[in-house]
Amino acid sequence: MKLYNTLTNRKEEFMPLEEGKVKMYVCGPTVYDYIHIGNARPYVIFDTIRRYMEYKGYDVNYVQNFTDVDDKIIKKAIEEGVESTVISERFIKEALKDAEGLNVEPATKNPKVTEEMDGIIEMIQTLIDKGHAYVVDGSVFYDTKSFPDYGKLSGKNIEDLEAGARIAVDENKKNPMDFVLWKPKKEGEPYWESPWSQGRPGWHIECSVMAKKYLGDTIDIHAGGEDLIFPHHENEIAQSEAANGKPFAKYWLHNGFINVDNKKMSKSLGNFFTLREIVEHVPYDVVRFFILSGHYRSPINFSRELMESAGKGLERIKNAYKNLVFFENNSTGEMTDDEKKLSLEADKFREQFEKAMDDDFNTADAVTAIFEIARFANVNVNEGSSKEFAKDIREKMLLLCNVLGIVPEDKDTGDKISPEEIEALISKRAEAKKAKDFAQADAIRAELLEKGVVIEDTRAGVRWSYK
Ligand code: AMP
Ligand code: ZN
Repeated sequence: MKLYNTLTNRKEEFMPLEEGKVKMYVCGPTVYDYIHIGNARPYVIFDTIRRYMEYKGYDVNYVQNFTDVDDKIIKKAIEEGVESTVISERFIKEALKDAEGLNVEPATKNPKVTEEMDGIIEMIQTLIDKGHAYVVDGSVFYDTKSFPDYGKLSGKNIEDLEAGARIAVDENKKNPMDFVLWKPKKEGEPYWESPWSQGRPGWHIECSVMAKKYLGDTIDIHAGGEDLIFPHHENEIAQSEAANGKPFAKYWLHNGFINVDNKKMSKSLGNFFTLREIVEHVPYDVVRFFILSGHYRSPINFSRELMESAGKGLERIKNAYKNLVFFENNSTGEMTDDEKKLSLEADKFREQFEKAMDDDFNTADAVTAIFEIARFANVNVNEGSSKEFAKDIREKMLLLCNVLGIVPEDKDTGDKISPEEIEALISKRAEAKKAKDFAQADAIRAELLEKGVVIEDTRAGVRWSYK
């Protein structure tokens, strides 16, 4: 199995630190809003990589944090007049709901900054004691000049970085590239006690601390979106390697962006769609399939057309699978000699799938292998097939789908209320509310709930999702 390591800029053979085990850390979202479709990409991609490693027999310890202390969370909490934990807890719950919708396996652990303060303070103290950090007026900064390897992940050179630093430099810093490990509180902000001030940690330190606590000083894989290479991951390396005196992560994996009109989809550019908005129109499994249809390191453009074509592709897989289930349920008997030959022939799809995934997780080609087994099933399995043969091909197909987290079996779509019917009921409810007929409005909400749909009134209108 080969993977592309950002640290060495090349594809390398995967060799775990410990036989049969993988320690994997993935940077998670900052929880101040619903996740957007760009954020969904690392969720799906690194879950798929984890599933493939599990398929290969590795025991994967998968840690993904939630950043629940941050300026944006505090800002939103002030706007709503609530504690910042109210905001972060709300959006952690929503992010977990989205992850479940995307069929992402639960992480072994989802640590939160607010629950790791002791470890954070301890690591900052170690960095100070070892001469890698300094204190100025209650702030603590990392001294990038003290770490000769600074820049090794991003391939940046510290002198060039300094020359290019046009941002207003904090005058407390010794050098422009130094970054904050601890900052004193400002009026109205949440804070924690520390030896340096009442305050809160900078962003980068949390991941170094959580990776160490839950996975150890040296881990196999560290992953995230490519925007995190610099400065976030560079700073994590500087912190962890200086504090622990050991290499931090063996392999660094980064996903490319989801773009809109060739620009990164992001909150700050305002060109984003939350996943919740998307799944009002397209099911979660189509979103997952859309993300898997490209190579994880390539940029993908988000468009309605591509999403529709992903939907059609997934439908083809589901139809082939449905037919296999039908033939299996409606026939009898064991494989004939010809079927045995065909069964052996069908093993080539698994080989094709593994070859694609072994080559830096080429999910696009892995999906092609599934399309091909679907086509093979359509051609070779029919009313005349034995039960054993239909089952054999179905299981071969399911095995590959499972690795990609695709569920080919449509569950109870028969009686699921359609988006159009939902929209109609929501309009009816709005009219009832307008006419001050709240009993009717409540009855419609209850009716939707009974049909498996949850609605939520927001400033931007009514949001709905399947339960
Ligand atoms: P954030 O909450 O912005 O820190 O992002 C959480 C994760 O989503 C990180 O791994 C980011 O690198 C990743 N991410 C953010 N925007 C995009 C995007 N447009 N495309 C792909 N990944 C993204
Ligand atoms: Zn991180």
